[in-house]
Amino acid sequence: MNETLITDLKAPSAVLPGVEPRFADLHLHTYFSDGTFSPEELAERGGKLGLVAMALTDHDTIEGCERMAQACRAVGVEFVPGTELTAELAGREVHLLGYYLDAANEKLRAALKQFQAVRQSRIEEMVSRLNRLNVPLTAEAVFRLANCQSPGRPHVGRALVEEGLCASLDEAFDRFLKKGRPAWVPKFKIDALDAIKLIHDAGGLAALAHPVLNQGDEVIPDLVKQGLDGLECFHTKHTGTMPEHYLALAQRYNLLVTGGSDCHGFSKGKPLIGGVKLPAIYFERLKEAHQAKSRAKARPAPVEAGPA
Ligand code: AMP
Ligand code: FE
Ligand code: FE
Ligand code: ZN
Repeated sequence: MNETLITDLKAPSAVLPGVEPRFADLHLHTYFSDGTFSPEELAERGGKLGLVAMALTDHDTIEGCERMAQACRAVGVEFVPGTELTAELAGREVHLLGYYLDAANEKLRAALKQFQAVRQSRIEEMVSRLNRLNVPLTAEAVFRLANCQSPGRPHVGRALVEEGLCASLDEAFDRFLKKGRPAWVPKFKIDALDAIKLIHDAGGLAALAHPVLNQGDEVIPDLVKQGLDGLECFHTKHTGTMPEHYLALAQRYNLLVTGGSDCHGFSKGKPLIGGVKLPAIYFERLKEAHQAKSRAKARPAPVEAGPA
């Protein structure tokens, strides 16, 4: 592995001599999708952990970003508005993180609204399947509990527990909601190329989330060809030497390095935030890449040299 990467990964302070190692968390969920924390709770936790930056990446929504930006300002943490999109590449599911999205972008707003509508009908379909299995859950109970525009399977699972129909979330997933189980309904997936384009058109950068959860690394070069900007090298599911493996791939394909905990609230007694440390140097590079892109976009197109 390249020396710079080892320096960056093991001792980010060596990159900035005399500076304390600092970290970012660029993959977080709130109750605007399937997390349980409010944006304010999440920002406060990040502030207490001394994070330099946090990104909110709720599934198919950017609704929590305004509140999170404000809450991050209050605790002195830099904020990156984002989302996590479920996409498809040659029949494989991949999750794409969009960073630095322009919340006013009409195309993005319309697409997210459509993804949310599909999520809502999917909840109804999952509940119908449960009813056919004689599990008396109502869609209203799920929507009431979810209380957001972007509901998902965890809300169905939590509602099953709350209604006393399952003993735990694990049981709900194992019996009904996991892929292939009787109440599982496939999720709508945007084509990966369209997802990257959507993110780019909204002024953002696209990173592949938790690559270890994809079936193989072959998707990476394919996504690179489609304009992928970054790779999530640090993630809760990336244990042992996996970060080094993905850092080497990021270098091979000239991708930005991102990372985050994918915290959805409390998990087995404690929240995941703080458990994954993206060295601040990588956040700085992401930020610089975004700034360079914005400057290039703002620059007027060169005037064609006409006849003298
Ligand atoms: P959905 O996007 O509606 O298909 O739900 C996917 C979400 O469900 C993931 O982002 C996780 O938050 C959660 N999830 C997936 N599998 C499990 C599981 N076995 N137990 C608990 N939560 C899960
Ligand atoms: Fe989730
Ligand atoms: Fe994901
Ligand atoms: Zn996530």
